[in-house]
Amino acid sequence: MLVETRSQLENLFSKVKPYFPEINPRLRINKKKRKNYVMVADVSYSGDILYNPDIYGGYSVEEVRGIFAHEFGHLINQAAMKYLSSKEKERRRIDYELNQDYRREIERAADRTAVLRGFGKEIYHLIFISLLDENWRKKRGVEHLSLVEIIRLMKK
Ligand SMILES: [Zn+2]
Repeated sequence: MLVETRSQLENLFSKVKPYFPEINPRLRINKKKRKNYVMVADVSYSGDILYNPDIYGGYSVEEVRGIFAHEFGHLINQAAMKYLSSKEKERRRIDYELNQDYRREIERAADRTAVLRGFGKEIYHLIFISLLDENWRKKRGVEHLSLVEIIRLMKK
């Protein structure tokens, strides 16, 4: 079943959210910002989730659950950085954009958090279908957990 409406999206958001009780993000639909991303956790650490409505129509329920869990993983990991100075946060934000090793660390940590919160199946599925896209595989695939790593983590 594809996720096609805003209310389906809101319903999934509220179902995944309780697995991440430390944070309280809002779902924010934003048409203009960062169009090439399906959804990103707000880099300013405000705790919002941005979701591109032009793209979400193409995702299944399981995939959307995986996307939310991954993004909540980012927010959990970012919350641990809240004591950093704003200068340091800004430095890391720039690092995320420019330094692939750092970005890889951040992306893999978000995957790991999501898997350990019980969304292993969803993350596995999401990465599996993303890997079918050659462009994603080359540019972004290297920044995420491998399928084998996900399976191993799920056994923990
Ligand atoms: Zn991410």
